[in-house]
Amino acid sequence: MQKVLIAGGAGFIGSHLCKSFLSDSLGVICVDSLITGDEKNIKPFITNPNFKFLRYDITQPLQDKELSELDYIFNLASPASPNKKSQRSYINYPIETLLANSDGTHYLLELAKINSAKFLYVSSSEVYGDPELSPQPETYFGNVNPNGIRSVYDEGKRFGEAITMAYVRKFNIDARIIRIFNTYGPKMQKDDGRVVSNFINQAIEGKPLTVYGDGSQTRSFCYVDDMINGLKLAMLTLNTKGEVINLGNPDERTILELAKTIKQMTNSSSKIEFKELPEDDPKVRRPDIEKAKRLLKWSPNINLEHGLKKTIEYFKKL
Ligand code: UDP
Repeated sequence: MQKVLIAGGAGFIGSHLCKSFLSDSLGVICVDSLITGDEKNIKPFITNPNFKFLRYDITQPLQDKELSELDYIFNLASPASPNKKSQRSYINYPIETLLANSDGTHYLLELAKINSAKFLYVSSSEVYGDPELSPQPETYFGNVNPNGIRSVYDEGKRFGEAITMAYVRKFNIDARIIRIFNTYGPKMQKDDGRVVSNFINQAIEGKPLTVYGDGSQTRSFCYVDDMINGLKLAMLTLNTKGEVINLGNPDERTILELAKTIKQMTNSSSKIEFKELPEDDPKVRRPDIEKAKRLLKWSPNINLEHGLKKTIEYFKKL
């Protein structure tokens, strides 16, 4: 049986990835420190004999008999929400975020080297910062504030990319870097402050939808099932070693448009309230996915309205 290690496996995207590999009958080792991940996300798999959960902080050297004979290693372990009002935000875990992406990635790359495992580093569209070019292709170097409030995440991800490529060049590791753009869907943390989960929960609860700034900033939202397919293809497709690939949905919307769509889809009488725009909030974000289409034959299938419908149903049931 092939074995996959998923660091950050108790998080939103990580737990969907665990589920998907379990249904392919792979052995899944989920490593998570649970500082921002949630044990609830992996509860349905705990009784599966092919699943093992190790509560570890990847910034410490990993030692466990389970961490042998690994075929694949994914590193998704990092706080990821920029919203400082949320306890789970990387703004509230600045050192942990920097170290998860630097020391943590280093230890996992060592593990990949020892096991001759394939490695995938989950980077982010945040490496493009506040982009002066749109859509963003992988060849764009970005426009990042190196010491601003978001820098712990942006520079953490940039370091993670650098060390991953250093291992490819120096040790010939079979690794790839995936830059994921805004992703949403069931199992998003209700309280992590991301725009889709905030708006849906505000709309359901009849509270004002909090649009930051004038809502003219854009994002492009990818449904989680599409993202999981892309991540798996990036790991399993031949000829992806040493490649940097964007994954996301290029359907770009303004935040105000998103608020109106969610308000309408939930039949909510909530008001739209304008709040202060967070510091260094990117004005536009849209992936150029030509490379993913060419190398992985991947493109997203689920449109925003369909994905929102499923996400609204999930939050209504909570
Ligand atoms: N945003 C908003 N209201 C909220 C949460 C977020 O207007 O309640 C905005 C935020 O300022 C940003 C966009 O929505 O422009 C996406 O924010 P999110 O935190 O989901 O992710 P980001 O793309 O900034 O990492």
